[in-house]
Amino acid sequence: MKIITEKKRLLGLVSIILIAGFFGTSIASFLVSRASIIKGISVQELPLTGDNIYSELQKDILRPVFISSLMAHDTFLRDWILRGEKDSREIQRYLRMVKEKYGTITSFLVSEQSRNYYFTDGILKKVKEDEPLDAWFFRVRNMSAPYETNVDPDMANRNTMTVFINYRVLDYDNNFIGVTGVGLTFDTVRKIIDNYQERFMRRIYFVDKKGMIVLSGQSMKDIKGSIHQIAGLKDVASKLLNTDSNPAQLEYLSDEGIILINSRFIPELGWYLVVEQNEEFALKPVRHVFWMNLTVSTVVTALILMITLFTVNRFQIRLERMATTDHLTGLLNRQGLEIIFDQMIKDVERSKTTLSAILIDIDHFKKINDRYGHLTGDRVIQKVANRIQESLRKSDVVARWGGEEYLLLLKDCLLDQAFEISEKIRKDLEENSLDIPEIAEPVSVSLGIAQLKQGEDQDSLLHRADQALYCAKEKGRNCSILSEQ
Ligand code: GH3
Ligand code: MG
Ligand code: MG
Repeated sequence: MKIITEKKRLLGLVSIILIAGFFGTSIASFLVSRASIIKGISVQELPLTGDNIYSELQKDILRPVFISSLMAHDTFLRDWILRGEKDSREIQRYLRMVKEKYGTITSFLVSEQSRNYYFTDGILKKVKEDEPLDAWFFRVRNMSAPYETNVDPDMANRNTMTVFINYRVLDYDNNFIGVTGVGLTFDTVRKIIDNYQERFMRRIYFVDKKGMIVLSGQSMKDIKGSIHQIAGLKDVASKLLNTDSNPAQLEYLSDEGIILINSRFIPELGWYLVVEQNEEFALKPVRHVFWMNLTVSTVVTALILMITLFTVNRFQIRLERMATTDHLTGLLNRQGLEIIFDQMIKDVERSKTTLSAILIDIDHFKKINDRYGHLTGDRVIQKVANRIQESLRKSDVVARWGGEEYLLLLKDCLLDQAFEISEKIRKDLEENSLDIPEIAEPVSVSLGIAQLKQGEDQDSLLHRADQALYCAKEKGRNCSILSEQ
């Protein structure tokens, strides 16, 4: 019992050390890699993507801002208004030239004086203060900034969603005389963003100063409205909109996991450019390595435990054998016999069979020792043991009981059967010498026999066998004596 619990404790300890070691290092290395990847994304990759997009934007979207600026400062356009907008074909030709030369989707001019909306094909309409669709004009009229970017349906273009650059036109005394500019279709800009999203594997969208998503790619069409209302994103919305110049690094928790986010304000557009990266996506390879590590660790732990268990069991068996075996004869020693003896008595009681014990002692052994020396005496003890074993069945148990004494336990053996075996052993030794060159004459033994009585214990049975042996010695030795039942 004690050995089993100690074994369990050893295996438990080895498991804990291995698991703690392997799992600890795996988790630590995962956490370090994770931290460095996240830092890399937040501090380098996302801002860099923002920079790239910004420089692309300058090429693609900011170009219309410059075109609109050129238009607003064009002396022809200003003079034409100041001269009273006489021939609308002139401005029509001018707007058509701008549209064709610069490849924009639309170009327009709205005059403050006449409230006419001129486009490439003539006058589209008159803008009115009470018309919601014209609200942009009156907003730009009262604005202090020179221009704004605005997403609206373009009436001159079958109401396609368009990004307009609305540039204020001033006369030579800086009085407001109208608004001019060009427009890009939403789809063109979306394609540009989609291209970025594909190239950089990130979500990219634009948010105005109030937090409305004004522009996003094809893959984000479902994401609309205010970032103050989008789950997860709303937690960082105010921080995201707080930075006027420095790129902000933030993160939030969405249904898809942790999202790392970077935003920068683009003054030319008046919008924030937001770049998002799903942490999961970047951590996939690290997670894969982590699970691989754990699998290998588990297999190694199991192998080490198996080897430990196997080794401990082998040593245990060897130690047990050493502790219960007599070195000289290879028979069971007294300790080994006691364990078996107990079990045998229980078995006999349960199966209602019988058990006999024979105690054997070599006669005048002291003389052998004295005459031939102790080493020869040892060989005699060995040889006698061999002879006894040869006379027994496999189920019989024989042990070295003392110096030159042996104890036999015979299962399913009545007293007279035990006597027969006893005599067989005795006669065999009496008649055949031991095959030890210096000892020519055979040795004799005396034997005491007893059969287990019902309810009798180990000590009592041995005591009776011992008494019978004593009687045999008294009777002149070289004989078998039965104990009284
Ligand atoms: P008896 O016929 O009455 O048994 O006489 P005996 O001389 O055999 O007397 P006893 O059994 O009392 O003596 C046993 C002797 O065996 C005493 C001891 O010196 C010797 N002896 C005990 N163990 C060993 C052993 O391992 N090797 C050897 N060589 N001698 C042993
Ligand atoms: Mg003796
Ligand atoms: Mg003796």
